Amino acid sequence: MSLQKSISKTLDNAERLNPELNSFLSIERGHAEARVGEIKDDSRLGGLAIAVKDNICTKGLQTTCGSRILHNYKAQYDATAIRRLNEAGAIVVGKTNMDEFAMGSSNETSAFGPAKNPWDTTRVPGGSSGGSAVAVASGVVRAALGSETGGSVRQPASLCGIVGFKPTYGRISRYGLVAFASSLDNIGIFGQTVKDVADVLGVIAGRDEMDSTSADVPVPDYSAELDSDIAGKTIGVPRALFGEGLDDEVRDSVENAIENFRSLGANIIDIELPYANYGIAVYYIIATAEASSNLARYDGVRYGFRTEESTALREMYARTRELGFGQEVKRRIMLGTYVLSSGYYDAYYSKAQKVRALVKRDYQKVFTSCEAILTPTSPSVAFKLGAKSDDPLAMYLNDVYTVSANLAGIPGISVPSGLSSEGLPIGVQLLGNFWSEGKLFNLAHRYSAEFPLNSKPAVFAG
Ligand code: GLN
Repeated sequence: MSLQKSISKTLDNAERLNPELNSFLSIERGHAEARVGEIKDDSRLGGLAIAVKDNICTKGLQTTCGSRILHNYKAQYDATAIRRLNEAGAIVVGKTNMDEFAMGSSNETSAFGPAKNPWDTTRVPGGSSGGSAVAVASGVVRAALGSETGGSVRQPASLCGIVGFKPTYGRISRYGLVAFASSLDNIGIFGQTVKDVADVLGVIAGRDEMDSTSADVPVPDYSAELDSDIAGKTIGVPRALFGEGLDDEVRDSVENAIENFRSLGANIIDIELPYANYGIAVYYIIATAEASSNLARYDGVRYGFRTEESTALREMYARTRELGFGQEVKRRIMLGTYVLSSGYYDAYYSKAQKVRALVKRDYQKVFTSCEAILTPTSPSVAFKLGAKSDDPLAMYLNDVYTVSANLAGIPGISVPSGLSSEGLPIGVQLLGNFWSEGKLFNLAHRYSAEFPLNSKPAVFAG
């Protein structure tokens, strides 16, 4: 099929499925069709259609962060990851739905309604990068960009039965990723396969002078290592974490994945991560603290929405933020302001930073005895829309297995491990040491090549 035909088919599929799935906030037909003519035959990605989370800046295209406060906002420049994708011959076909400012685990805090899980449209796709996960899971695109602050790529990948990846902090430039919690934020990648993810990472990874936290570490050829034998590789399993709150079916699937890895020759050992239990508490202090500062820039003056109702300046700021932000974002701004306030700073923020260092030390210690850690990605399968919306704490507990990788800055990947008795996908996560993306891809690729899901969601582009 010619590139032009395949891009129109992608756009047609996106348009046809969107009323049911709500995975795209904008489908960029004009932009994508115009790009076709610019793709060179020898380009690295050869016209790969890609969906992009709506908190990654795409010049001239809307970038709303799933928020009313950025309704109709068009980015003034391309994120570095987008610039590199464009140069390598990828085509952005649309911007995807997300929890408002990436705060959430179900896509339900989006100002534009939730994306729906293609395996069962009465269920959430996970979040916050729910729209990107759905765009890949429903077969519209092979790969998509998301963002990860505490699990927002790995968790929806798990709930949608696809591959989701978070890099080492500093591996992918954050220039043009709208900031939520800068010390935790990463651009992440979804793929139908591990190879899709490896191909995209190879293009977007690497030092960028526009992001001082991007690292000057050489970018290997990630796809070269995919097929290596994994016999003799050591995988650590922190079984003490597989207790309270973990669904039985997820636990069984993870145990099954462990046996499968053993059958591929991997050496499975028990490990302990004593500080991992503090991950959620630490994350929701640090992430909210940083968010309260980062989101101060939305004041009705510089970007997007401004209320028409006020004439006085201070009142305009306050009313714009009151109308422009949703409930979860306001909750986080208030929490973050509180933990940073004088008198409470030492008890919360400063203490959380100390525990964060201990979480990181846990991992550094464990990676002296194993190459990867295996855990569930999410404690449950996709839940019903609305099931946890009134209980923020229950929602936060979705991140129990994912947040500590963001606190430590290490990479992680979620791959499908099976289906529940109701036919919903389950995922397992592999975590690795800093800069060990290639090793994770190798383990994940070999696993999914030998034990594929072999099943498609109910809503699928075909
Ligand atoms: N679910 C987590 C939160 O609500 C993580 C979000 C993310 O990774 N962006 O903050």
